[in-house]
Amino acid sequence: MERQWVQVRRDLHQIPEIGYQEYKTQGYLESMINRLPQEHLHVEKWKTGLFVLVKGIEGKRTIGYRADIDGLPIKEETGYSFASQHEGYMHACGHDFHMTIALGALTEVVENRMQDDILFIFQPAEEGPGGAEPMQTSDFFQQHRPDIIFALHIDPSLPVGTVATKPGVLFANTSELFIDFYGKGGHAAYPHLTSDMLMAASAFNLQLQQLVSRVTDPLSEAVVTLGKMVAGTAGNIVAEHARVEGTMRTLDPQVIPLLREHIQTLLNGIEERYHCSTSVDFGASYYMVDNDSASVEQFKTAIQRTSVQYQEAPISMAGEDFGYFLKNIPGFMFWLGVESPYGLHHSKLQPKEEAIHVGIEAVTAALEKL
Ligand SMILES: [Zn+2]
Ligand SMILES: [Zn+2]
Repeated sequence: MERQWVQVRRDLHQIPEIGYQEYKTQGYLESMINRLPQEHLHVEKWKTGLFVLVKGIEGKRTIGYRADIDGLPIKEETGYSFASQHEGYMHACGHDFHMTIALGALTEVVENRMQDDILFIFQPAEEGPGGAEPMQTSDFFQQHRPDIIFALHIDPSLPVGTVATKPGVLFANTSELFIDFYGKGGHAAYPHLTSDMLMAASAFNLQLQQLVSRVTDPLSEAVVTLGKMVAGTAGNIVAEHARVEGTMRTLDPQVIPLLREHIQTLLNGIEERYHCSTSVDFGASYYMVDNDSASVEQFKTAIQRTSVQYQEAPISMAGEDFGYFLKNIPGFMFWLGVESPYGLHHSKLQPKEEAIHVGIEAVTAALEKL
């Protein structure tokens, strides 16, 4: 049984596809699901994702379990014999594990029917532009809206055999940040006749870093990072254009609009001071993963009967669009230990495959006991 799931993971690992391009992935999932007895199954496509409903014996409640299915635009460097066949793309966030574990738990549920209806959600585009929010507006989801919902994410820093989560906020609110600065280029020796956008973007970055220390409440954690700055064409030409890209993360959802408002104010000042125009795009934003405390307690109790070890997790400033499910439905997300020397979104991420059966065990136990 275990070998079968390792093979499934390796099959999926070879065909990573980015958000809303997951056609081969969807086809592979469908082919696996078609092998199961179909009597109590209902499969519904949603864009490049799938809903799979397993009718329960009583069917009074519906329990939702979500697995994200997209890969990343990263060139794989694991050296695996089963490395990505899609050049420049990789399952570097473990979503191949997530899908395999969901298929494993789905098989368990089909073979040992549960009292409740179980809705498996194979969700596209977690890495962007986001699938959790639009997926919930579909008719199928509305008709089979779960009473409780959960999901897992692999954690390279945790040992195999361990899961971790916590009540309350687990993952942060996030928003992207893309800003263009448009000025006037010219000769480096005549700066007084130009509007230097390298200066404008640099000044903006310095002022931006004061928002967290002087605008947000010290008790509400926030971080703003510009990770990319591009400006100019040559050393002796004043830069006519600059672009910065970044991200902000907060634990209080109210802080994101506050930061956005102040960023716009800062840019108004930059425009005046540096004689330029700017345009800002806040890109994708994800709502925090806010775990329901009672659900986390039920999960702890459920896995006590298994060999899986539980740990209390720290808050992570990472983002996860599963937060949009938890915004509307009680539930939780947990980390699954996979022990990799390289972290998430790394070209050498090597999660241990022994963790797959641990994941299936934990998810199945939770589906039985939630
Ligand atoms: Zn990721
Ligand atoms: Zn991920």
